[in-house]
Amino acid sequence: MNKKYQVVILGGGSGGISTASHLIKAGIKDVLIIDHADYHAYQPAWPLVGSGAEKKENSRKKMKKVIPHGADFLQQKVTAIQAVERIIRLNNNEQINYEYLVVALGLQLDFEKIEGLPATLGKNNVCTNYLYDYADYTYASLKKVTAGNVIVTKPSTPIKGGVAPENSLFTFDEFFKNKKKDRPTLILKSALDSLFPVEKYRREIEKQIEKKGISYDLQHELIAVNGPEKTATFKNLATSEIYSLPFEMLLVTPPMSAPDVIKQSTLSDEEGWLDVNKHTLQHVRHQNVFGLGDCTNLPTVKMGAAVRKQAPVLAQNLIAQIKGKPLKGYYNGMTACPIATEYGQAIMAEFGYDLKPKESLPLDQSKTNPLLYQIKKRGIPLMYWHGMLKGRS
Ligand SMILES: Cc1cc2nc3c(=O)[nH]c(=O)nc-3n(C[C@H](O)[C@H](O)[C@H](O)COP(=O)(O)OP(=O)(O)OC[C@H]3O[C@@H](n4cnc5c(N)ncnc54)[C@H](O)[C@@H]3O)c2cc1C
Repeated sequence: MNKKYQVVILGGGSGGISTASHLIKAGIKDVLIIDHADYHAYQPAWPLVGSGAEKKENSRKKMKKVIPHGADFLQQKVTAIQAVERIIRLNNNEQINYEYLVVALGLQLDFEKIEGLPATLGKNNVCTNYLYDYADYTYASLKKVTAGNVIVTKPSTPIKGGVAPENSLFTFDEFFKNKKKDRPTLILKSALDSLFPVEKYRREIEKQIEKKGISYDLQHELIAVNGPEKTATFKNLATSEIYSLPFEMLLVTPPMSAPDVIKQSTLSDEEGWLDVNKHTLQHVRHQNVFGLGDCTNLPTVKMGAAVRKQAPVLAQNLIAQIKGKPLKGYYNGMTACPIATEYGQAIMAEFGYDLKPKESLPLDQSKTNPLLYQIKKRGIPLMYWHGMLKGRS
């Protein structure tokens, strides 16, 4: 095959599908989505699966079910992007030509950067909520633990789902709440130098951590795991000290980076991320290329909630570019991070590039509230499947 499309969208995740829906609704007819996956997943459900509050089967649908009517779909892995020639190379050695390109390839999970981790993941109570196949192993491990250390880690790289590790810790605390004797010790090891970038929400997260008696260290990065011996090795990034701790359960948030196919193209910035204008979402060097979501260098927390705000802006600006008009769509960095503070209670951080709270509900979203939990657990998934993916919100 050597076919040409007016618009090719790389990635059929949150960003790719919602952008396709916006473009088709606006009358763009010649759209192709390329993704190698069989399923489209609503990933924010996975920490709930890991805490036993959701079934993992409810978090995904067959990819073909979410492709908007009017768009073509090609189930192939993208192996190269030749932006100068406007060619996409595929795993089956075929190529697709395009006039305009949307890059929404998400990010890559770098489990292998932690020594010993790939060999023991899904065994020895070494868990992650970052893969569909493993999210229920987190809950299975949680139920087995009666004492010792339950350690939750956060890497120094940008991650998606920003506060998912803290979210898991808080629900684990609730899970063990009634056990006075032999209660496991809950530990957060974060390689970041702060618990949260926005002060208002950081204060509440700190308060929750202290109230629950969770011990935490900042700038401590997981560097190795020995599954059979149940030890985790950390590096103190401030002092370079390296030390090991025993664990009964280890919940790992892996290091993350841009997909290799972006790093190897001319579309990346120095760190490998897709290099886009932070307001227009247009590529800074290739005017016919736009990008959104986790694969970009947009300086905001990588969340589906951010993608929801980016997709209509991208569609508006791409259409303007096609018509030779000025790009008027403007993304201000808005993102949202819901954090379950226990089963049935949550807070919801909402802010833009300026790191100032911009809350959309008529209540203080930094205060734990049952309504915010129901919005996280029930409201947002409904809005996601029936609104955002269909270009309606
Ligand atoms: C554990 C967890 C908790 C989270 N919690 C929240 C939350 O509470 N709230 C929130 O808003 N967001 C949350 N998120 C983040 C949210 O899921 C992402 O930010 C969002 O999915 C990003 O959309 P995207 O389109 O950029 O990437 P994705 O949705 O990941 O889509 C990328 C797509 O690209 C495809 N792809 C990748 N490489 C190739 C290739 N070479 N060839 C073909 N196809 C390829 C993939 O198969 C995938 O379908 C969470 C994520 C996780 C994992």
